[in-house]
Amino acid sequence: MEHVGIVGTGLAGVRAAAELRAAGFTGKLTAWDAEDREPYDRPPLTKSLFGERVRPLASQGLGDLAGLGVRVVPEAAASVELSPSGALRVSGVAVDAAILATGAAPHRKMPGAHVVYTSDDAARLAAAIPHSASVRIAGAGWIGTEIASAVASAGLPGPRVELWESSGHILGRSFHGAVDDLWLGWLEDGGVDVRLGQPLPEGQDADAILVQATGSAPALAFLAVEADRTARGALATDSLTRVLSGGSPVPGLYAVGDCADALLGETTLEGGHWTKALNDGKATAAAILGVPPPAYIPPVEVFSTQFGHEIGLVGTVPADAAPAREEPPRGGSVMRWEREGRLLALLSVDAPRELSRARKALRVRRG
Ligand SMILES: Cc1cc2nc3c(=O)[nH]c(=O)nc-3n(C[C@H](O)[C@H](O)[C@H](O)COP(=O)(O)OP(=O)(O)OC[C@H]3O[C@@H](n4cnc5c(N)ncnc54)[C@H](O)[C@@H]3O)c2cc1C
Repeated sequence: MEHVGIVGTGLAGVRAAAELRAAGFTGKLTAWDAEDREPYDRPPLTKSLFGERVRPLASQGLGDLAGLGVRVVPEAAASVELSPSGALRVSGVAVDAAILATGAAPHRKMPGAHVVYTSDDAARLAAAIPHSASVRIAGAGWIGTEIASAVASAGLPGPRVELWESSGHILGRSFHGAVDDLWLGWLEDGGVDVRLGQPLPEGQDADAILVQATGSAPALAFLAVEADRTARGALATDSLTRVLSGGSPVPGLYAVGDCADALLGETTLEGGHWTKALNDGKATAAAILGVPPPAYIPPVEVFSTQFGHEIGLVGTVPADAAPAREEPPRGGSVMRWEREGRLLALLSVDAPRELSRARKALRVRRG
């Protein structure tokens, strides 16, 4: 193995490069990325919309591409091809292995609407909001509620904030209605006008800023390789991040972070979460270099900061079970979903210690 190509230098791509070097890889590393700038972390883009929103990954100790000896090629849409003889090429360059780390791009259908995926998107939105009469956000998922919180908490003289959600639930994909009361309290106290069960009407009001926060899809249009896909259109991988085709690994092809879902026997570890992007590279490095991977795979985890609360969700909330509510002795609150005495998911509000226990209970032993 002399040359490894990495497509995408978000968190997953940068971590894969760092883990390869940490595991002793001394060969050539080349990375391609559509954004021609130093890799940065995406969560602060919405949480700190009006503050320190661009935090380089290198400054957080998550990986410095220059220090890791990675040659970076800026390219809007790098391509990946596999010849019938098994030779891999990234944008025409021969590599021995390719790591796909292209993330998930936001849905964008409403004309004139902002999305927040890149630091440039966030800068444009932050600059436009103070001059507007109202901010209309479509989608009360994590991104939509974070933007509503950031605008409502910014201390601006205007604008009115509206949050429209067609499904009828706040964070419905994550909680299936179980947190509506909790979030409605925060949103209403913050002065946000919430319209549940209603899609944002078409048509532009000249004084309103539109924000589309209706979800994202794995960014895989560039891939000219037959591979198995999961229901959300992500690449299916095994627990070592090897891309599967017909259920078997494609030699030399790996996928990490948001563009991939790992099939782990009974469970699927879905992309779309920071912790998956953070951890996948360890398994990739182990698979490429033939060293033992970490014994455990951490569970899905989401963190958020909204209306002055530190929020964490570990695990997958079932649609058909009601949560138990607790108030831990050290403060904050917790919702816990269990089945037959087994923890399935835990939501913590200002109770970080409860999260570390849940992480341990929900990690999966690598098969
Ligand atoms: C605003 C925002 C807030 C978030 N907040 C949270 C949070 O609080 N908690 C949480 O768990 N998760 C959060 N997430 C999700 C988290 O940021 C992602 O899970 C993580 O960034 C995934 O990392 P990644 O490297 O897989 O993908 P990305 O960070 O999306 O990076 C992919 C990179 O690949 C590049 N690329 C794509 N296609 C190509 C191509 N063909 N050629 C070259 N380059 C290409 C892209 O330009 C991009 O730079 C948030 C995401 C956003 C956008």
